[in-house]
This record gives sequence, C-alpha cells and structure tokens, in this order.
Amino acid sequence: MAEFLELEAQDGVRMAWNVVPGTKQEAGNCVVPVSAIYTPIKPFPNMPLLPYAPLRCRNCRSVLNPFSIVDFAAKIWICPFCFQRNHFPPHYASISDENLPAELFPQYTTIEYQSPGEGSSLPPVFMFVLDTSIIEEEMTFLKSALSQAIGLLPENSLVGLITFGTLVHVHELGFGTMPKTYVFKGSKDVSKDQLLEQMSFFLNKPRPATGVIAGARDGLSSESISRFLLPASECEFALNSVLEELSKDPWPVPVEQRATRCTSTALSIAASLLGACVPGSGARIMAFIGGPSTEGPGAIVSKNLSEPIRSHKDLDKDSALHYHKAVKFYEALAKQLVHQGHVLDLFACALDQVGVAELKVAVERTGGLVVLAESFGHSVFKDSLKRVFQSGDKDLGLSSNGIFEINCSKDIKVQGILGPCASLEKKGPLCSDTIVGQGSTSAWKMCGLDQSTSLCLIFEIVKKDIPDTTVQSTGNQFYFQFLTYYQHSSGEMRLRVTTLSRRWVAGPGSVQDLIPGFDQEAAAVVMARLVSFKMEIEAEFDPIRWLDKALIHICSRFGNYQKESPSSFSLSPRFSIFPQFIFNLRRSQFVQVFNNSPDETAYFRMILNRENVTNSVVMIQPSLISYSFQSAPEPALLDVASIAADKILLLDSYFTIVIFHGSTIAQWRKAGYHNQPEHQTFAQLLQAPRDDADAIIKERFPVPRLVICDQHGSQARFLLAKLNPSATYNSDSHSGGDIIFTDDVSFEVFLDHLQRLAVQ
Ligand SMILES: [Zn+2]
Repeated sequence: MAEFLELEAQDGVRMAWNVVPGTKQEAGNCVVPVSAIYTPIKPFPNMPLLPYAPLRCRNCRSVLNPFSIVDFAAKIWICPFCFQRNHFPPHYASISDENLPAELFPQYTTIEYQSPGEGSSLPPVFMFVLDTSIIEEEMTFLKSALSQAIGLLPENSLVGLITFGTLVHVHELGFGTMPKTYVFKGSKDVSKDQLLEQMSFFLNKPRPATGVIAGARDGLSSESISRFLLPASECEFALNSVLEELSKDPWPVPVEQRATRCTSTALSIAASLLGACVPGSGARIMAFIGGPSTEGPGAIVSKNLSEPIRSHKDLDKDSALHYHKAVKFYEALAKQLVHQGHVLDLFACALDQVGVAELKVAVERTGGLVVLAESFGHSVFKDSLKRVFQSGDKDLGLSSNGIFEINCSKDIKVQGILGPCASLEKKGPLCSDTIVGQGSTSAWKMCGLDQSTSLCLIFEIVKKDIPDTTVQSTGNQFYFQFLTYYQHSSGEMRLRVTTLSRRWVAGPGSVQDLIPGFDQEAAAVVMARLVSFKMEIEAEFDPIRWLDKALIHICSRFGNYQKESPSSFSLSPRFSIFPQFIFNLRRSQFVQVFNNSPDETAYFRMILNRENVTNSVVMIQPSLISYSFQSAPEPALLDVASIAADKILLLDSYFTIVIFHGSTIAQWRKAGYHNQPEHQTFAQLLQAPRDDADAIIKERFPVPRLVICDQHGSQARFLLAKLNPSATYNSDSHSGGDIIFTDDVSFEVFLDHLQRLAVQ
C-alpha cells in the first residue's frame, strides 16, 4: 500500500494495475480494467513551476519528460510515446547530463509550466441564482448565508443576481440607488437573442462591433455588462440591499398545490446572460434551490400535490412523467455551459427532492460543486458555502477553464473518463471503440476544477499477442502523459504535465508479476464508479450479479487454492481486503439505491465521481474507531460486534459522521458525571471523538452531517445501517451487540460462498 501512496504523493495518480497486463486477452482476464484515478491539480508544495513554454514532440505533441531518451552530444531527445527524434532548440544548447532542465529530472514526473505573457486579468464571475418559492424562515437562512458569502468574495470578482419563483427576475445591480429588475415568464424558455432584446442591451444604439472586455463576441460593451455584473468591491451595498428587500415569492399557493418554481428557466437565463457578457471567462452560476421544480422545461413534478415526486421505482419502471424531458433540457444546458466555459454549482436545500437527479448532467459536465442539505439553516449548507469562499489553508483552490488531454503508448487506447468533465470530441488513434463515460476523444473540457477533482480514466490494452522473445523482458514499459491546461485561482494560465511509466507483463507466469502491482483501494473505487455508471445507463443491469461475477473471477485467477477445496483458499495481502470492499460496495448507497431518493443517489454519485481514492474508500467502506477506558482509540471492525455498552464509536461514512455512545456511557453522560471534577477521565473520553469528528469536518467538502446518538436511540440507525450484520447469524457470541434484522448476508457467509465459487 505504502508505495502506491508514495506514487500518489508524487503524481496525484492511483492505478488499479501498477504492473499492467500487456495484451488484450490478459487485460480482459484481469476483470478490473487498466485504469487510473488522477487528481489533475492536486497541490504539491515541492513541484517546480517553470516560467517558460514546454518542449513538444514534433510528431505526437507530447511534452518533454524524464522518460525521454536524451543524446547530449547530438542535442536530440527521443519521444517515449512515438519514438520520434527531436532536436533541442538553441536555448537548450547548454544541456548536459550535469546540467539538466527541471523537466528532465527523474523526480519531476509532475511539473507545471506558466507561460509568460499568458497571464489573464479576467476576474472570476459569480452569478447567484436564488429560489424565492420557499417559506419565510428558509428565506431568512438563505439571505443570511449569502450576505456572509458576499463579504468573502474576492475583491476583483464580478457578481450578478437572479431570483426566481413564479417568474424570473434579473437584477440590475449597477443602476445606482434605484433597484431595477427585468422580469421573465417562468413557463417559457427564453433564447439568448430574446434575452438580449428584452434587456434592451441595444436600446437606441447600433450593435457595437467590438466590446471592451470578454463580451466582445456578442458585441456587448463593458458598459452594458456592468449593469448586471458588478465588481464585488462596488456592489456589496447594492447586493445586500436587494437581499434585504427580497421576500418570498408573492404568488399565492393553493392548499392542494406545490409552489410554482421555474428553476430551469432561471438557470437558462443565467447561462445566456453569462454567455452574452463573459464567454470564455471563468464564471460560475451558483444555484440555491429550496424545492422541486414545477414549471418550465425542467419541471420534475406537476404543481398538483396528489402527484408524488418520482422515486427510484418510477425511474426503474420508466414511469416518471417529466424525467426524460427535464434531463434532455439539462443536457442542452450542459452543452451550452461547456461551450461558454461556465460552471453550474448546485446548493439544494429542502426536505423534498428538488431535481438533483435531473440537474446532475449539467453540474457534472461543467465540474460544478454540489451540496445537498435539508435546509438553508443546516450546518451542511452554511459551512459548505463558507468553505467555497474561504481562503487560506482550507482553500478549495477553485480553478477554471481547464482542458485535459492525454497521450499513451501506442498499444493503449482510452475508453473514456468517469468524472466531472465533458468530451471535446477530439477523435484520433488513441480513442477506443468501446466508450465508457465521456469517451471517443483524447481531450476533455473541465470548466470548473479544484484541488480535489479526480478523474477516473479507463484504458484498453489493444496489443493482440507478443513475440516470444520479448516475453518477461524487464524493458517492457507503457507510458502515459496527462496534460492539464487551466486558469489557476491566481488568474494565470498554467499547464500541469504528469508523465507515468508502468511495466507491462504477458504470457505464462505473468499472473504472479501482476499481483504486487494491484492497488486494491484504487480498484475498488474504479469498480464503484463503473457500477454506478452502468446502473445509470444500462437497462436491466444487475449490479450485484455484475460485482459478484467480477469478484469470483478475480479470486479464482489470483487466489491460492487447490481445485474444489474451499478451505485451501487464500489471497495475497495485495488482494486480501478487496472482497471486503466489494461486500461493502454491494451494501453501499451507490448500489442499494432503493433506500434513498433519486436526488440523494445522484448526489452521492456526483461526489464519488469527483473524489480521490482515499475519500472514495470511506464512502464505500466507512471507518469505525472505538474509544474506551481500557485503551487508546483504535480502529474497530465494521461489525455489530464492535458495539459495547462501555464504548464510544466514531463512524465516518463520508457524508455522515456518527458519534455513538454505548448504553452505559450514555447513562453516565445523562447523569452528568463528566461535569464532576473526580470524573475528568470520563469527560476526556466523551470529548475525544468530538475532537476527532471536528478535525474530519474541517477538512471535508461538502461538510458532512454530524449525528450524535446513543445505543438503542432512534438516531442509532445511522450507525447500524453501515455495520456488518454478523450477529444475525451467530447472535449468542457477542454480548452487547445489536442484532440487525436484515435479509442481507453477513460478511462471513459472503466470504464462504465466494471461496466455494472461486475454487471451482
Ligand atoms: Zn512523440
């Protein structure tokens, strides 16, 4: 494990197979695809930032890297991807093996270039889109959270405001002291031209040929733009006074009806306005939505309360009335935003579903942030919003205008990316015919990306077979190069280059060579993204069957056993926790979707699809720590047997953190022992998990929900749902254990079956 973490600390990459199965057939037998989870702009304090442009191979355009073979005498470098010989330009004349440029240092496989003169002065743009069809109390929470956020905006950023309910209001913030708004009907989609017309951008003047700043393409002058997008430093007062005056949607809502809420029309207007004003610059639409969309092309349910909001059952039976129409609308919006280079962030705060499942495509393709909470007053929302604008060491590192490209050795093709990006449809020899996620391209747009954004790349090995002579040679290397152009949060354009080399093996005996290179955590995360993706796009897909088949296949290929003898079965340490990961993945929110709403499922998957391996593993298999008087805090088995009356448990399931007091601990706490000076150690025992939970919460975005509960209390279900139900099967052996009445199998039974099937 440790060496995979070291590789990640150097390059921001984890691969399921670090020794690569070298032929198509061999890779197929490995079940888990050759794949990488890559964090393109992971911060590395010691990474060099080169103040010049990269050297590129004149044939394949890949960038000079430590794996290039250099002939110092002839001043030539050979590209490891296409073997092209390239001459060094004159300014590399002094190069020698004692005088290497940084990009050839063996340890700088990940490096960044900052091209001089390319620094952009474009300010970041925030377009706030506010739902006002919410109750007064929520309105108050939302306003207070926003005015706090406005205070944290970067001074140079531009800010705009749109509010919506029955109608859409575009606020003209630059109109001096008189508040002015443009009103649009919520039921009808407005085209960009209609929008420009109605907002009288060209009133009494001809369409100017050129603009001053980024709106030039549409001929908008900076004067027009500054009516709607004002520098944060100038508009704080205007924005706050608009917010102060803002009240909930005034239109009456009949008792048997839902409020009118034209979410899609508002978002469409926001997108068109940004498209007209600041195309190509790093702009974010931040949507704050407090209930289901009931009007316009993106409506998810009718206003009639007798019609329930779609459930997973409805989606499964394809009987959700509005679903396809809404998704189609948001797909088109995603396309528009990607074209403009803009991001959609979603803050969905309601007890009801609001349509996250439908909006998912637009958020994910543009690399937007998503936060789901019960209320605008909940800490999950309030603290997450603060984190977005917080600077300092907890900075999210929001960046924009990213383009991600890859190069690979010629025996490798790319099936696609599962993660927050959009295909740029750059087809070429690198593209596989099999498409997974955003595929059929070797370049992707990442409108928004941050320090933790992690892409999952799925590769295909195309080499058919290999001549005997090369088998088992140690010189068999595959190369991968990841290029990320992006606008750094400082405003300047950067290029991050990561070049990787991995040994490949094939032929007899190669199974033994593959084992040490297997990263079971990365593999589990790849399988989690894949199974979620397949559940969304393949009709009749059976995730449990698919996962079980994959696991059995892996175990029979890489396990040690005598045929037909389950008791002889064992796995190397490299594979030993993989069955447990798959067991927990089967029981997770990603696969057991019927325990959640479609909005929740979409939310969980969007976060899974953008997080790194370590965080994703926690989502699949929560961590459990036990606190007691007998010992220091220690990891506990994710099993009901870990529950004890005199222990406190801290469960981290990523989205939720649970502090669970055993019944005796709970009694003592209720009796107030921790407040008595002679019971200081008890007070410390109570406090320790609180401190550890706080440390996790501070690091994480979105901020997780904290549940504090007692054994036998109703909230204890948040813990019990995540524990292995071992006691269902051997209920007498664990005193103090809580029995889960469930029909899913325990891990012991699962492992038993697995061993029997693997040795067949
Ligand atoms: Zn080349």
